Amino acid sequence: MDLMEKIVSLCKRRGFVYPSSEIYGGLSNAWDYGPLGTELKKNIKDLWWRTFVHRRDDILGLDAALIMNPKVWQASGHVEGFTDPLRECKICHQRFRDDAWKEFQKELKKDSSIKAANTDPVFICTTGKAHEEKDLTQQRNFNLMFKTQIGPVEDDSSIAYLRPETAQAMFVDFQNILSSYPKKLPFGVAQIGKAFRNEITTGNFLFRLREFEQMEIEYFIAPPKNDNEWQKYYEQWQKAMWQWFDSVGIDRNKVHEHEIPDGERAHYSKRTIDFEFDYPFGTKELYGLAYRTDYDLSKHQKYSGRDLEYFDQETNSKFIPHVIEPTWGVDRSVLAILLSSYWQDEKRAVLKFKPSLAPIKMAVFPLVANKENIVNKARNVYESLKKYFVTAWDDRGNIGKRYLSQDEIGTPWCLTIDYQTLDDDTITIRDRDTTKQQRVKIPDLKKYFLEKLED
Ligand code: ATP
Repeated sequence: MDLMEKIVSLCKRRGFVYPSSEIYGGLSNAWDYGPLGTELKKNIKDLWWRTFVHRRDDILGLDAALIMNPKVWQASGHVEGFTDPLRECKICHQRFRDDAWKEFQKELKKDSSIKAANTDPVFICTTGKAHEEKDLTQQRNFNLMFKTQIGPVEDDSSIAYLRPETAQAMFVDFQNILSSYPKKLPFGVAQIGKAFRNEITTGNFLFRLREFEQMEIEYFIAPPKNDNEWQKYYEQWQKAMWQWFDSVGIDRNKVHEHEIPDGERAHYSKRTIDFEFDYPFGTKELYGLAYRTDYDLSKHQKYSGRDLEYFDQETNSKFIPHVIEPTWGVDRSVLAILLSSYWQDEKRAVLKFKPSLAPIKMAVFPLVANKENIVNKARNVYESLKKYFVTAWDDRGNIGKRYLSQDEIGTPWCLTIDYQTLDDDTITIRDRDTTKQQRVKIPDLKKYFLEKLED
């Protein structure tokens, strides 16, 4: 089994991620987070919010509607231009992104055996043959936004869209934020939420979903008088993104900056970096960082007819701020963290999550399940820790098996209540990564773990 297969199988077996609607045969690019996956994802989002909103003075939060006035998407250019070039196989009628086809062709050139070995269904006709250029239609543009309709009448005036990114709400609410919560530039608005894209390419687990979550910041700055003025902020965000990799335990050796060259960037962007990650299926985008100039606010000002300028008291002038946009995908974070954390030797498989991200922080075990005084003592420890930390209880089988079971889901500490506990009120704490044990007094446990969990 390769790493990806191991992760997908562990995720299903232990309740991190399930195929969505599985009893009905599933749905492509849709996955459900199970009990442990839900905790992991929540911990990532909480850490992000603490890092970029609560611990900074210059970022405010927002939680906007998923379905916005459709004019938003006309102004932003999504109705017209949020498209992927698509090719269709004339034989099997499969559709896929043109860039995926080009990548496949490159691989084919490098290694002719890939034709036989490649099992990615995107490139194999129902006839079993790899696609050939002559089998394909010319490329055409396919809009990735999901359309829906508001109200009971189905006509052009009722069309609405599920948002394809969280970013636009932060521009559309810009004046409301400024007038209710005055801030001096530079300042940012942060949002975490769902986004929807009718992606053409399928597969690769959590990498490319049709419904996914983003964590985005629009960081507003005064119009720069020279390149240094925006580059300074851009580089601060670049650094902050690298720090984030360390704080969530994404292997920085597997992260690469891909500077998008002139001509390939969106026309309004002066600089874009894709932070790419070495997934088992290739090196692909994980996060992005773009300097979007004043494009978005200017467009919304023009389309809405509302004043979206910022008044600068110091210079007594009004202007449209420029924006730097760092963006993180939540689901790709989950995937990169799982891939970076998985560790295995001949005895055990471990998810070496950072403690602050681990779905369960500690598991409490009575050494034996048939001694009432030990079980009661363990229950008391469990009940008191549960008030502060996500704690699990396990009294099944032998201790060794219980350790292995917790290692596999990334629980950093296992606490055992044994005969000695009854004498001196100490318990053993076994560390997931070193497997070393130490004895700690029960009244000291809360302080011990609060210190360990500081991020
Ligand atoms: P890609 O080139 O892989 O399609 P993108 O450049 O379209 O990605 P952005 O529009 O920059 O992506 O979106 C910001 C972030 O949202 C990405 O860096 C990624 O983490 C996440 N993201 C985008 N599309 C998806 C998707 N279909 N499934 C999961 N996450 C996604």
